[in-house]
Amino acid sequence: MGGDAGHTLLREVWGFDSFRPGQEEIVRAVAEGRDVLAVMPTGGGKSLCFQLPALLRDGLTVVISPLIALMRDQVRALTAAGVEAGAYTSANTEEENEALREGLREGRIRLLYLAPERLAQAGTAAALRRWGASAIAVDEAHCVSQWGHDFRPDYLRIGALREALGVPLAAFTATADEETREEIVERLFGGREPKVFLRGFDRPNIHLGFALKDSPRKQVIDYAKRRQGRAGIVYCGTRAKTEVLAQALREAGLEAVAYHAGLEPDARRLAEERFQREDGLIVVATVAFGMGVDKPDIRWVMHADLPKSVEGYYQEIGRAGRDGLPAEALTLYGPEDIRLRRSQIDEGGAPEARKIADHGRLNALLGIAEATGCRRVALLGYFDEAAGPCGACDNCDRPAEVFDATTPARMVLSA
Ligand code: ADP
Ligand code: MG
Ligand code: ZN
Repeated sequence: MGGDAGHTLLREVWGFDSFRPGQEEIVRAVAEGRDVLAVMPTGGGKSLCFQLPALLRDGLTVVISPLIALMRDQVRALTAAGVEAGAYTSANTEEENEALREGLREGRIRLLYLAPERLAQAGTAAALRRWGASAIAVDEAHCVSQWGHDFRPDYLRIGALREALGVPLAAFTATADEETREEIVERLFGGREPKVFLRGFDRPNIHLGFALKDSPRKQVIDYAKRRQGRAGIVYCGTRAKTEVLAQALREAGLEAVAYHAGLEPDARRLAEERFQREDGLIVVATVAFGMGVDKPDIRWVMHADLPKSVEGYYQEIGRAGRDGLPAEALTLYGPEDIRLRRSQIDEGGAPEARKIADHGRLNALLGIAEATGCRRVALLGYFDEAAGPCGACDNCDRPAEVFDATTPARMVLSA
């Protein structure tokens, strides 16, 4: 597949001068019709890795994506760039569907986004075959993992679709751990090994910090106040806490809204829209807030409670600074968090092996929280990525203090 054609499209359709790290190899493999599993950090530019090959290949690329909002955004952007694309979702009007089917019958449409629920309908595979489906792309592929918090049962139907169509499949996710990767290979590729791309986890523009909870509410308010006017997310361990903290932030004179899966869909949409539109809004949320958020200039992410795993931590802080400009992440934690997370794992009903793995992921996060050296070295080390001290984490900021605290002899000598 001509690399030149790829570069020309990159420039002319997307208006980008160059590929981001990792993109080009993935684009090439997908364009060549290989089965691909690409693990790339949030904001790394995964969409391009299936959109561009769709234009290099003959036929229709079917894109499975978990959120209607994500699909519509991508279709809108593609259409604006002159690419024929459409989305088949339950939110479509009959007229939209008719226009879409016409485009598909005429073979004009290059990318068709499908909500996973569509796969449950009889005749979907036959229709896709008729429309010339020649490749499948699966966005947010970790949604096939039964034990992840984004599990979507209909993702389990994708493997059968791939077999029915007999076309290559490319899966994309930011969730890196080996267990999830194995689940993806098993369920989407039927165990046949895809070409795996796995690299580039560092987000050097995000400053990393951890702090022990002493006066949690005050810590959150102080932190948010010092960043007033800059968009941020405060992640909480429970729904109730999001509401209490949002209220406290408002009383402190800040713009803040709560967000969790228990809110009415309208309230959630409103919070998402405000966050997208306003400059300095704070969303106080559970992990339900995130996957659909595509705001490049989130300047800070604070965890008011310890996340449940390194993966969760990484995904959540990864929402900050997608524009590449400086951003910050601070995580508060205390003994209660650890107890809460442990009991959530123990009482979660997962098989024993899974519980053990989950405790391991929690322990790994605690290892980063308690690290006396560079946080980034510890975090990237978890993803098997080697790095040197980053100069952009709280421990790198104050090496002397760490040295003193861990070296009582020195304190004695200097007293
Ligand atoms: P991901 O799905 O991996 O989180 P996206 O596909 O949403 O990432 O891309 C994140 C941002 O990066 C988008 O704003 C996108 O336009 C931009 N982007 C992607 N590829 C490039 C590139 N080669 N050059 C410049 N910007 C890019
Ligand atoms: Mg994406
Ligand atoms: Zn560091």
